[in-house]
Amino acid sequence: MWVAGMGGMGTALSLARQGFTNINVWEQAPYLDEVGAGINIPPNLGRILTRWGVMDICKAEGVAIQVANVHDCETDEVLTATNYSEYMRQEYGHPFITVHRSALQKSLVRGALDSGRVTLHLDQVISEYDFENTRLLVRDDEEGELVWVDADLIICADGIKSKARAALLEQQGIKDEVESTGQAAYRIMVRKSLAANDPELLPFFTQAQSHRWIGERRHVMGYPIEAGDLFNIPTSQPDGNFVEEDEWTAMGDKDTMLETFADFCPRVKKLLALVPQYEVLEWRLRVHKPLPSWCDGHIALVGDACHPTLPHLAQGAAQAIEDAVALGIILSRIKSRDQIPAALKVYQKIRKPRADWAVVTADENSKHLHLKRADRDAWVADLRAALPEGEEEKVVIDRLGSRETHDRLFRYDIALETEQHFSKLFAEELMAGEA
Ligand SMILES: Cc1cc2nc3c(=O)[nH]c(=O)nc-3n(C[C@H](O)[C@H](O)[C@H](O)COP(=O)(O)OP(=O)(O)OC[C@H]3O[C@@H](n4cnc5c(N)ncnc54)[C@H](O)[C@@H]3O)c2cc1C
Repeated sequence: MWVAGMGGMGTALSLARQGFTNINVWEQAPYLDEVGAGINIPPNLGRILTRWGVMDICKAEGVAIQVANVHDCETDEVLTATNYSEYMRQEYGHPFITVHRSALQKSLVRGALDSGRVTLHLDQVISEYDFENTRLLVRDDEEGELVWVDADLIICADGIKSKARAALLEQQGIKDEVESTGQAAYRIMVRKSLAANDPELLPFFTQAQSHRWIGERRHVMGYPIEAGDLFNIPTSQPDGNFVEEDEWTAMGDKDTMLETFADFCPRVKKLLALVPQYEVLEWRLRVHKPLPSWCDGHIALVGDACHPTLPHLAQGAAQAIEDAVALGIILSRIKSRDQIPAALKVYQKIRKPRADWAVVTADENSKHLHLKRADRDAWVADLRAALPEGEEEKVVIDRLGSRETHDRLFRYDIALETEQHFSKLFAEELMAGEA
């Protein structure tokens, strides 16, 4: 039993596929809407969705990226262009797809509900966790009723602002401190019809390419979604527009947004000028120090609740759903309810090192992407000098386009890893419990 979202619905589906029943998901949103903007389905996530038989919507509504470009923000010069077309399929078995977040959500919700084993309770807020007795206090927002719900296991996938994480850390005597990164992001989009008469902008919609224009302390990213009908533009800039300390998102001001990127090349500025006036949403980018523990007794955290990340490695959803796969397999292998605590420790052992690495790498990536031009030139010159003669062009500026990152992230099969390591790790946990 747990809270919804990508990690929550993914875990529900994963458990349903392993044969579990009476799976309940509580979600505070009153209905599932087209909230959010673009999200990435890299090959490590595509492999899972395909195996689960829920890739159809994302395939139909998404765009398989063929080339990932990194540009200088002022000159528009292409600094690196990584060809994804055949390479992603050949090397990792799946394309790199970009979709609207709602397409991924629909896929997971449909898969979970079609299993007949999952009940989704919308408009229900988890207002308190009683970890000792494995129960949740659920508030029905419409009726205003408060009800305690008992469970065998509670999986908390309540996102970056997780209350469950705070409660878990409090039990361990640790204060929950979400860290400011000093960065914020606009999540904005332009519809193709607005650019239809502009031959300079139209290729953004018709060519399956992603673009990242980098500059000092800022970048603008862009890729098509909704089968090329929308161009999704996530940005990164210094966090300077939020007034209240605990503000997370705000309706941004379009003029301020345009001013933030005023020194970017004319093509980007023309694109940004097309963003509808009242659709400039700004998010504060926050992370959390790696947690000492993701679980306690019959409680486990999943997704952004335990490894919130900067978006610069495009792994937020993929890492949450890898958690879901690992949990499904691990829980299907235990024999009784009293083995749940040991099983959850195995989940943490398998998942935490990889998820923590993705968080750190996304952070490092932003540091390099946001260098001053002169510093970037010096850094790139050093990188080139370190490459063998004749291979200088293979220099990588954006870790998202690097072969090394791809091998580490996309070749990895979480289901295989979990199957391979479960027995040994579980035996160790059982022995440690008896000692
Ligand atoms: C509204 C929204 C829009 C987003 N848009 C984008 C986007 O455009 N691009 C992108 O890359 N990432 C986006 N994200 C983040 C992205 O979904 C996650 O980083 C990633 O998928 C990991 O998923 P998660 O399940 O851990 O967290 P999330 O997807 O954030 O899911 C957490 C869920 O828990 C629910 N919840 C939280 N607290 C409670 C409570 N007390 N009771 C009941 N329910 C609760 C939330 O409503 C949410 O549905 C968005 C997240 C949200 C919530």
